[in-house]
Amino acid sequence: MLRAVNVGSKSIADYHSIVSRDLMAEIRALAQPLEGKRVLHINATSFGGGVAEILYTLVPLMTDVGLHADWKVMHGKTEFFHVTKTIHNALQGSDHVLTDEERATFERYNLMNVGGLTEAYDYVIVHDAQPAAMRAHAPFEGAKWIWRCHIDLSTPNQDVLEFLLPMIEGYDLSVFHMAQYIPSENSVPEPVIMPPAIDPLAPKNMALSGDDAAYIVDQFGPDVERPLMLQVSRFDPWKDPLGVIDAYRTVKRTVPDLQLVLVGSMATDDPEGWEYFERTVDYADGDGDIYILSNLNNVGAVEVNAFQSHADVVVQKSIREGFGLTVTEGLWKGRPSVAANVGGIPLQIVDGQTGYLVSNSEECADRVTEMLLDPDAARAMARRGKQHVRHNFLTPRLLRDWLGILSRLADD
Ligand code: UDP
Repeated sequence: MLRAVNVGSKSIADYHSIVSRDLMAEIRALAQPLEGKRVLHINATSFGGGVAEILYTLVPLMTDVGLHADWKVMHGKTEFFHVTKTIHNALQGSDHVLTDEERATFERYNLMNVGGLTEAYDYVIVHDAQPAAMRAHAPFEGAKWIWRCHIDLSTPNQDVLEFLLPMIEGYDLSVFHMAQYIPSENSVPEPVIMPPAIDPLAPKNMALSGDDAAYIVDQFGPDVERPLMLQVSRFDPWKDPLGVIDAYRTVKRTVPDLQLVLVGSMATDDPEGWEYFERTVDYADGDGDIYILSNLNNVGAVEVNAFQSHADVVVQKSIREGFGLTVTEGLWKGRPSVAANVGGIPLQIVDGQTGYLVSNSEECADRVTEMLLDPDAARAMARRGKQHVRHNFLTPRLLRDWLGILSRLADD
């Protein structure tokens, strides 16, 4: 059954010196007529991955501006998360035909979780595919249902897409990071484009001094006086940690002092994560300058922040990427960034302006080497990257966009 997530409280007023006055005024104006409206967010996990990251800030800020916002997480056992991981991969293009048993497992857990919908809401926002089928069985009338898709559906496995689309039909509106991610014309209800954002005041992103960041990094083993290349990502083939190790090995021929840190927490809905973690460790082959860390090493939000604040170059060598919040986080910390030209990354990295876009390990290695050898040029780019994030990818902008969507549906 659905479980409520305790998000504590946050105040939008705390953001006034970080974003523009106009944006703050827009938020106030949009929130006023929505006062008292009940909003429910539903997703599959409260730990690990970008969706949980966003909801920990968005939900309390919605409450702060006058709505009554809740976040509930689906209950699921490993059998369900195996199916949803398969669906997730297939929606991003991997080959798989869902068996009847997998379809039945998916439906069964969705139906079971509907039992947790005991209060009525004005808006229900369902994140990604895992809870998508709940709408069809919802017990209360009158709510507006929004399907928020966090992944790229432009080149999906058709069989799995056809399983998903009928579930989405009954929604009032759907939301995608980018126009290119919408599967095809008229396939989803009223698509709206809204890229995600990071919370500049969360422990993950709050300003850390250089000394404090180095102090934390030092405790995990790397030499803080030597250059450090970083990727923060779940251990997942789409994030290509093995490709990052290849790039590191190439750079190390020119920069022998280089160290690599791979940080990846294991999400509760990602049973494949452990397997891929082992593969990554094997691939590192005992190299003493490669540090592979996870939440098991107590790498929480502040520690991720410290690595991102301290790294000489932040990389994100994904094969596919929904948006790439880790890229946003690195840019916000003013770090030189090299990332794959996929998904939402090019919205953030304007090639040669706010960082470098690359298509393979060799290109990645070339750009990392260039940035390490010319730190002044790299820093100038990184500063522009930070401003780009300030204007486009911080939570107040996301809150404004959500309030816009809710107002629009209220008027329908
Ligand atoms: N993350 C983390 N610890 C880790 C790995 C990831 O805190 O070990 C966070 C990361 O900082 C980011 C989010 O999880 O906020 C990942 O979001 P992203 O959009 O990069 O990828 P996703 O996991 O959603 O595909």
